Amino acid sequence: MTKYIFVTGGVLSSLGKGIASASMGTLLKSRGLKVGMLKFDPYINVDPGTMNPYQHGEVFVTRDGAETDLDLGHYERFVGIDLSYYNNVTTGQIYSSVIEKERRGDYLGRTIQVVPHITEEIQERIRKVAHRDKVDVVITEIGGTVGDIESLPFLEAVRQFRLKEGKDNTLFIHLTLLPFIPSTGELKTKPTQHSVGRLREIGIQPDFILCRTQIPLTKEARRKISLFCNVEEEDVIQAIDVENVYEVPLRFEKEGLTDKILKKLSLSTHEKDLREWSRWVEKVNSAQKEVRIAVVGKYVRMRDAYKSIIEAFTHAGAANNIKVNSVWIEAEELENNFTEKLKNFQGILIPGGFGLRGIEGKIRAIQFARENCIPFLGICLGMQCSTIEFARNVAGLKEANSTEFDPDTPYPVINLLSEQKKVRKKGGTMRLGDYECKIQRGSFSWKAYKKDVIYERHRHRYEFNNHYREILIESGLRIAGVYPEKNLVEIIEVPNHPWFVGVQFHPEFSSRPGAPHPLFRDFIKAAKEKYQRKSVAKIVREK
Ligand code: GLN
Repeated sequence: MTKYIFVTGGVLSSLGKGIASASMGTLLKSRGLKVGMLKFDPYINVDPGTMNPYQHGEVFVTRDGAETDLDLGHYERFVGIDLSYYNNVTTGQIYSSVIEKERRGDYLGRTIQVVPHITEEIQERIRKVAHRDKVDVVITEIGGTVGDIESLPFLEAVRQFRLKEGKDNTLFIHLTLLPFIPSTGELKTKPTQHSVGRLREIGIQPDFILCRTQIPLTKEARRKISLFCNVEEEDVIQAIDVENVYEVPLRFEKEGLTDKILKKLSLSTHEKDLREWSRWVEKVNSAQKEVRIAVVGKYVRMRDAYKSIIEAFTHAGAANNIKVNSVWIEAEELENNFTEKLKNFQGILIPGGFGLRGIEGKIRAIQFARENCIPFLGICLGMQCSTIEFARNVAGLKEANSTEFDPDTPYPVINLLSEQKKVRKKGGTMRLGDYECKIQRGSFSWKAYKKDVIYERHRHRYEFNNHYREILIESGLRIAGVYPEKNLVEIIEVPNHPWFVGVQFHPEFSSRPGAPHPLFRDFIKAAKEKYQRKSVAKIVREK
């Protein structure tokens, strides 16, 4: 019998509902339970694939090629599972499937309404996760903030769900914020009271209230919340701010949350193993030295746009006992004076992206990394830009470009495959998800993966143009990875360099705390070596 936990959020957005949900996943998994995750997003878009990263943050890609909300990345990393298209559901998807059924005649004669048709469709999606993933517990996070018009059908659906599944099998957890007023030294509970009030109006009584707070939860605040929100004092849980998000499960465990959840769901397990997780967190927190990595991108004001890259750095840093200090640089600003801006870094990374803005700055940064032996990792667009840079500055194809940026370039070293040229619709039509890649022995990539064949996640339209393959190889480029079925270039490398790798896929999506991505791990290792070489040089000079 599957149990269901529903996580809602109150007061305001960005409280870390995704991390809180993911952390409960870590905790239940540590007790030997199989955990499934589901995120409901209340917006009308069918998927976040076409949404602006400034508004929505990173688009996380699953192995099966779904373009999903970035919270799925947290779930994968915290729970150590691979998710699928059905683990993220938006209002747009719910409505389009109800409308499709209506058009097909499935509801013939009936009036189609939010209740019961939309709410039933929502409930079906929850059961689908239980059924497909065959799990003991499904944790469902309801996006948005209680009180929003958009999330109402989801809340109504889960209220009904509890009625059908029973109290013992379902649990409501509400995350809120307790603002701290420094002048009076008080934690304010009023916003929490109001948001729980809104939930109760809909008929949902939370079982636990998780309180985001800057300072430890006071007795007074706990007592008030308990009284006004109708929960036991012990079920008011402190969720204090932490530097390192991977500490959140440990904090919750300390609050006794796991035992309390298990008790309310009438679950009993004997296992308890958070040792490895704590050791790893300790390792991250205790790193003293740091390497500085420049990330040259387009959405640098919105750090959430590169969430998985930041996390992959943390994982790779822990594996190398070093802290990764990533500095985000606006690509457009590099179009001049780039030496000054880039000279103090031990590594340069160019992430994925779309559109012309900032491209020339990225190409400058790549040239700088290649010529000055700075470890370099190019991801997707970053790999395409490194191909352009190499073609222009090494192979002598002066105006080489991608047809994405210059449709009339004389040397389209990156262009569309004929099948992509026919595509008219934007949503869900890129090359998405896992594809095979065969790796050349002896390459940087092979040394990292120690495997001949790997599978990695993709999200792009444009490809390395095989027409220029020979000339680029003759000029010294190494084609280190290929998708055999279509002979597509997946990895390029510059030999005679400490570490220079460009990949058409997105390694950041599959990096996990205890299992850093091999390319990120080796990139940071190369940066660390560069750092050490530099410090030795400095010491010698100082003597
Ligand atoms: N814009 C490029 C393409 O569509 C790269 C995409 C990416 O970096 N994710 O191929």
